[in-house]
Amino acid sequence: MMTVQFTCKNCGSGIHVYPSVDAHKIACDVCQVEQVVKFNKEHEEGNLHDCPSCERKDFYSQKDFNRKLGVMLFVLAAIISTVLLWFGINPLWYLSTFVFLYLLDFILFRRLKLIAICYKCQTVFREVSNIQEIQGFNHEMNDRIVYSNHDFQGKPLDH
Ligand SMILES: [Zn+2]
Ligand SMILES: [Zn+2]
Repeated sequence: MMTVQFTCKNCGSGIHVYPSVDAHKIACDVCQVEQVVKFNKEHEEGNLHDCPSCERKDFYSQKDFNRKLGVMLFVLAAIISTVLLWFGINPLWYLSTFVFLYLLDFILFRRLKLIAICYKCQTVFREVSNIQEIQGFNHEMNDRIVYSNHDFQGKPLDH
């Protein structure tokens, strides 16, 4: 089932919900402020064509990469190599920690699923059925949507 991660307009916290046509308002767990959402039958079926938050039709897809995990791996590599250096272990081992963690990161990254994100309001959609229809991030579209409030109506730019 598709899950939707809204961003609270008041405090910026993530609000995770399952689409339901009966849900017209969602409340933030942190600050309790409510916001209006517009779910339709398509959302319940996991198909994404309209944003339930801003009602735009422009989305991009990307890997569900967890930045915190990436940073954690890097810190871990730094700690391991410092310890190895402290014990006077061959610098090759020192290098191999980074190589190992780089590979681990690469494997994890490749296994990550695609998610869809609304250009306009940054709402995140997971387990989207029609994810293959959604193109990757386009800088020009993003700039025009964010800075000039252009509405592409779900038709991606083709070059
Ligand atoms: Zn909030
Ligand atoms: Zn939106």
